[in-house]
Amino acid sequence: MTDTQAPSSIPLAGVIGSPISHSKSPQLHRHWLSKYGVRGFYIPMDVAARDLRDVLITLPKAGFVGVNITIPHKEAVLEIADLVTDRATLIGAANTLIFRKDGKIHADNTDGYGFLENLKAGAPKWNPTQGAAAILGAGGASRAVIASLLEAGVPEILLSNRTRVRAEKLQSDFGNRITVIDWVQAGNMLEEASLVVNTSSLGMVGKPEMRVPLDGLRKETVVTDLVYTPLKTRLIETADEKGCVTVDGLGMLLHQAVPGFERWFGPRPEVDREARAAVLR
Ligand code: NAP
Repeated sequence: MTDTQAPSSIPLAGVIGSPISHSKSPQLHRHWLSKYGVRGFYIPMDVAARDLRDVLITLPKAGFVGVNITIPHKEAVLEIADLVTDRATLIGAANTLIFRKDGKIHADNTDGYGFLENLKAGAPKWNPTQGAAAILGAGGASRAVIASLLEAGVPEILLSNRTRVRAEKLQSDFGNRITVIDWVQAGNMLEEASLVVNTSSLGMVGKPEMRVPLDGLRKETVVTDLVYTPLKTRLIETADEKGCVTVDGLGMLLHQAVPGFERWFGPRPEVDREARAAVLR
C-alpha cells in the first residue's frame, strides 16, 4: 500500500459526471456486486469540472479503486490521468479510470469494446471484413465506434453527419478508410453498407426523430442504434420490418462496463438477461 491508498479492504468505485442522476451504471454494478457476492460499493458522484482534479486525487485515499467517467468530463480527464491507453488517446476521451497501487491514475476507453461486443453478441454472423459500414453521427460516441470498427478490420466507413466539418475532422484523424457523405445524401449510403450504425442522438427520448430515408436498407444488412431510450427506435423498427438483424444500444452500455468491474472488483461479470433487467428496472 502507498500513502495514496486508504487501508480499506472494501473496494469502492463509482461514476463521476454532472448531472449524474440519470446514470444507469450504479444499478448495473450493484447488480453484479450482489450476484458475485463482492463486498464493495459503487456510488454516483456529481462533480463540477473545477473540482474534478481534486476529487480524483482524493478518492484513492478514501479506498476507491477506480471510477467511470461520463459527460461532461470524458475529455478533461485525459489531462489529469498519469497514463492513457492508446485507444483512449485515439478516441480523445476516457470512460474508465483505474487507481493503481503505485498512486498513478490509468485512463482507458471501453466504449468501442462495448460497442463491438454488443454487435458480436447480437449479430454473431456479421463479418467485419465483408463490407462497408455506414455511420450516422460524428460526435464522441462515433469516434469510439469508428476506432473499434477500423481495428476489427472493416474495409470502408461511410460517415454522414449533420455538421459536415465534424465528420471531416474524424476522416482526417482516422484516415483514408473513411468517406464523408453529405447529410442530405445519408439515405443513399445505406444500400451500400453491410452494417448501419446510428451514433447520433436522433430518435432518443426528448430529441428529434431520425428523418434519414431508410428505403435503401437491405435485409442482409445488420443495423444497430446506440440510442437505447427507447429500445426500439424508428431505425431499429424499420430494420426489423425489412428483416434485418438488429441490435439495440442497451447491450453496449452493459458490455462497456465489464472491463472496469473486473479490474476493480475481481470477477469478470456476465452480460445476460438479468443484467439487462437490472438497468431497465
Ligand atoms: P455528442 O457528442 O453530443 O454527438 C451528438 C451527435 O448527434 C452528433 O453527431 C450530432 O450532430 C448529432 N445530432 C444531434 N442532434 C441532431 C439533429 N437534430 N439532427 C442531426 N444530427 C443531430 O453525443 P455522443 O456522446 O456522441 O452520443 C450520441 C448518442 O449515443 C446519444 O444518444 C447517447 O446517449 C448515445 N450513446 C449510447 C451509448 C451506449 O452505451 N449505448 C454510449 C455512448 C453514447 P452535429 O455534429 O451536427 O451536432
